[in-house]
Amino acid sequence: MKNSEDYKKILERLPEKLACLVQCKTVSYYDPEKEDEGEFTRLKAGLSQLYPLVNAKLRLDKPSNRALLYTWEGKDPSLAPVILCAHFDVVPPGDEAAWLHGPFSGELIDGELWGRGTQDIKVLMACILEAAESLLGQGFQPKHTIYFAFGGDEEIGGSRGAHAIGEFLGKQGVKASFLLDEGGPIAVRMLSFVERPLALIGVAEKGYADMVVTAEGQGGHASMPPRHTATGNLGRAIAYIEGHPSPARLTGTIRSFLSLLAPYSRQPYHFLFSALWLTAPAIRLAFAASPTTNALIRTTAACTMLQGSMKENVLADHAEANLNVRILPGESSQQVLERLAIQVKPFGASVFVKHPEAVVEPSAESGTDNEGWKAIVSALAVSHPSAACVPFLFSAGTDTKHYKDIVQATYRLTALPQDSEALERVHGDNERVNIEDLLRCGYFYLNLMESM
Ligand SMILES: [Zn+2]
Repeated sequence: MKNSEDYKKILERLPEKLACLVQCKTVSYYDPEKEDEGEFTRLKAGLSQLYPLVNAKLRLDKPSNRALLYTWEGKDPSLAPVILCAHFDVVPPGDEAAWLHGPFSGELIDGELWGRGTQDIKVLMACILEAAESLLGQGFQPKHTIYFAFGGDEEIGGSRGAHAIGEFLGKQGVKASFLLDEGGPIAVRMLSFVERPLALIGVAEKGYADMVVTAEGQGGHASMPPRHTATGNLGRAIAYIEGHPSPARLTGTIRSFLSLLAPYSRQPYHFLFSALWLTAPAIRLAFAASPTTNALIRTTAACTMLQGSMKENVLADHAEANLNVRILPGESSQQVLERLAIQVKPFGASVFVKHPEAVVEPSAESGTDNEGWKAIVSALAVSHPSAACVPFLFSAGTDTKHYKDIVQATYRLTALPQDSEALERVHGDNERVNIEDLLRCGYFYLNLMESM
């Protein structure tokens, strides 16, 4: 695509089609009784009308009723395929009265499209499909086979959607060159010392586990308590954990993030980031000072729930606390469990993993020296020329975990410019997208597909 303004014409139907997707109330819940399966069916059925060329020319497999997999056969079967992902479920709208325009209205007002999914993440599904639709209209065929993988339950873990697609592709022996899913934004005004917008391309994801610290003690009447109670021991154990966080470490991802950020940073940051061999200890200290950056350099364990006795005047014979643990790449949930067990032992407490099946180990760290990274960065250079591309540790969970065995590299990017205020609307109220930004996001996918 040579003429830089042509994309607006080519993608002119993108906003109205995204509005159609938004109007389907595809809210996913852990309790399937609460879900409106009819809305999911309506969205899936509508795709063939919205994207007739995609429907006619790409193969569509449905590994489950929440999984759509389009296959765009490439010209060169010797090349490793590429997987582009999104999900078509959304989180509940919350308090609808707090929305200025209805969460499922898909209203277009003053250059903005409103509703659930306009930022997370029907927006990417619409961009991917519209880019493909227009390229098919031009008779384009990629060199690599491209898969479009859309799950319908990402917000509740992805077991029916992405997991089914990952298994389906795995059985066919697919080993993709790279996968691109939702992820970091094109962050605007995020760091005071960097003027350019930063495309935060997630190359790794922290792991997730809930661990329970328990303490036992003598139950009975609270009028004559022993010197140490189960609740007191538990409290001391939690205080000790908070006082002794896991060691700080600059992972490969963060080192690469800082090195690539250096040229865009003002002094003294420019120097600090380009001489990590010397400045790493100072950077670890500086990062530890704020919760946002602290989470980038260590495994965190936040005490979120406490339980002791159920009655005011009764001693607890058992007290427990939930630790919500986010594991830094390079560590495992087992290692974290062992460290916590040693920490709480002096207080007579012990620790176990709450839902072993829900544990997500931290992802591998994908590099910046392969085909996928280069393709994403080149496409962004055309669609978002002012943005600097940096690898990033993504803090939220995505569907990417379900594909880890069938890809060589995984990237996470939502190619929309967002400041902190816009990011708060993700899962919040008044979620919306600026139409110019939406079209540029579509333009990014146009460029990416054309280069494949
Ligand atoms: Zn999402």
